[in-house]
Amino acid sequence: MLTMGGGWHSPPRVGIRALARDDAGQTEPAGAGPAAASRERSATPAHVAGTVLWDVDTQVDFMLPDGKLYVHGAEETAPAMRALVDAARAAGVVHVASADDHELTDPELVEEPDFRNTYPPHCLRGTRGARKIPETDQDDPLPLGEIPIPPGLLAERVRGRRELLLLKKNFDVFTNANANALLDILDPDEIVLFGVATDVCNDAAIRGLLLRGRSVTFVEDAARGLDEERTASCTAAWREAGVRFATTVDAVTALRRPSG
Ligand SMILES: [Zn+2]
Repeated sequence: MLTMGGGWHSPPRVGIRALARDDAGQTEPAGAGPAAASRERSATPAHVAGTVLWDVDTQVDFMLPDGKLYVHGAEETAPAMRALVDAARAAGVVHVASADDHELTDPELVEEPDFRNTYPPHCLRGTRGARKIPETDQDDPLPLGEIPIPPGLLAERVRGRRELLLLKKNFDVFTNANANALLDILDPDEIVLFGVATDVCNDAAIRGLLLRGRSVTFVEDAARGLDEERTASCTAAWREAGVRFATTVDAVTALRRPSG
């Protein structure tokens, strides 16, 4: 479904100004005017009912300074991430998380990585580094591994579950055979996405979601990139493709709206 312009909300340009990063040389697009913004807001209840919070790889190895593939400054975003996860929990909004679940035999892991297609060992199954940070932890997720579940059975298992966990062996969440089917089952009007790293796993997730015709809001202050320049080019490309940008404060407010 294409919901370009039919938005969950659109005033979030403040999010870009709120960022400390100003070296990317990006200028803000004209964006929708106040009239368009209020039109979109009036459509909010229906859209928020179909909102999914999409949490990308908020795991110890990426998020904490002693992690094996630490994303610089990621730990500073943990309180924002907690606010999003708590708001979703309080509002009954579905929380989809992806998580790397590596074994040393995975093709992505090499000793001399290029940090594009290959990376040093990280998020090894069963290790502390693979755990989600406490701020984004899920209480009782349905874990979905790499073995495809028959679509009818998947729908049955997903029914009534608020927390889903997509385990993956590659930076692209859509390499998990169940990711596409899960998206079809949830069929969200809007996906509010945050996590790490902006220029790797967030980028793969957002591009994958856009390819599937999904409407995405990126919570920029609840995310960090590995490489500053590459992060700037990712966010510029997303913006061009219609991704909306929100601050955590905006996103939390919108998530809370359905429960009053
Ligand atoms: Zn990985």
